[in-house]
Amino acid sequence: MLKRKKSKNYFKSAKQFLVGGVNSPVRAFKSVGGVPLFIKEGKGDLIWDEDENCYIDFVSSWGPLILGHAHPQVLQRVKKRMAHGFSFGASTQIEIKMAQTLVHAIPSIEKVRFVSSGTEAVMSALRLARAYTNRDKILKFSGCYHGHSDGLLVKAGSGALTLGIPDSLGVPESYSKQTLVLPYNDLDSVRDLFVKQGNEIAAVIVEPIAANMGVVLPKQGFLQGLREITAQSKALLIFDEVITGFRIAYGGAQTYFNVQPDITCFGKIIGGGFPVGAFAGKKEILSLVAPDGPVYQAGTLSGNPVAMEAGLATLEILKKMNPYANFNKKSEEFVHSIKKEVEWLNFVSINAIGSIFTIFFTPRPVTDYDSAKTSNTKAYAKFFQFLLEEGIYFPPSQFEAVFLSLAHKELNLSKAKKAIVNAIFKTERIFHA
Ligand SMILES: *Cc1c(COP(=O)(O)O)cnc(C)c1O
Repeated sequence: MLKRKKSKNYFKSAKQFLVGGVNSPVRAFKSVGGVPLFIKEGKGDLIWDEDENCYIDFVSSWGPLILGHAHPQVLQRVKKRMAHGFSFGASTQIEIKMAQTLVHAIPSIEKVRFVSSGTEAVMSALRLARAYTNRDKILKFSGCYHGHSDGLLVKAGSGALTLGIPDSLGVPESYSKQTLVLPYNDLDSVRDLFVKQGNEIAAVIVEPIAANMGVVLPKQGFLQGLREITAQSKALLIFDEVITGFRIAYGGAQTYFNVQPDITCFGKIIGGGFPVGAFAGKKEILSLVAPDGPVYQAGTLSGNPVAMEAGLATLEILKKMNPYANFNKKSEEFVHSIKKEVEWLNFVSINAIGSIFTIFFTPRPVTDYDSAKTSNTKAYAKFFQFLLEEGIYFPPSQFEAVFLSLAHKELNLSKAKKAIVNAIFKTERIFHA
């Protein structure tokens, strides 16, 4: 048994002063039970909690840490930058370099606005899309997460079109009513909707690889179809690449799948572990944003030089290494080796692409939110606890992506593989009997 004494005590005092003891809900371990870890340190592919337990980390801060924890070069550059001051609320040269890096990396981008989170990026992108098209409605897909802004906290009912039922109290119906929701991967329903309401829809927003209901791949032609439909009815196509940007390819999912959106949202990797987000696209659209245009958007810490340095250092390393072909292959082989051993159980369904994957505790193929929801979350909770005991830190929720990083060592991957296969077998014995 792992020691839990300090984490237990910290969680107790955390609950006294922080809402739910955390600053983001999934950290509270509500869906897997037990005491959430209080992390003391991270290095490469490992993290240590306050009780000195060591884990191989498969969360990677939910995606930003593609280079692993405390990458020496990133650390060195951040330290150096910090010595010159933390924030000025005025322009710095590094913002130009960072914007230039995004523009050079991604063909659909000519101009960039930096913000401080993915939520902020998407929220602003929608305002921009509405201003550009002079329309109000937004189409999103159930199970896709685009941050916690009003109007995006809307999922779906049962596969049919649902008119804005918010997932959160405090979201006015008048906001959520502007958000239309359809099932992921269902192009026919998008076509039908556009026939009826196309001229009211400002934008379609999509995770080009869904990773917030667990990993769900876009079906062949889905993204291309969205591109065609939106172009035809003069709605904008927004790719939320907060996870996929610089993850699946240097040029993001849009390069990987060769589909060009009108606006792209970033976060996570482009901050290298610091708070950064961005929305970007063609000049013609982005120039509507203040001070060039009438769409207001601002931020005290936007383009913060320390955060920019961390992000730029990360992107420069990725550009120089160009790790994607090998990294994706290595990751896919890792997942395949697990799949091969557990397939015959007919107990889990594994989705993987590049360096992200999800083990769904359902025998059904998972292609959208409804099929993801057939997962046995109690079985996932058990599986998660088995892994934790073995020193493997997986996402504390079924409906999240597992993130591999370039810091994952062969030895730790093969250790993890054994533990994962074992944990699936042990869980199967409990739940399948
Ligand atoms: C994480 C995430 C966001 C929100 O980013 P935050 O930095 O947490 O606000 C938005 N979209 C997607 C696809 C994400 O994965």
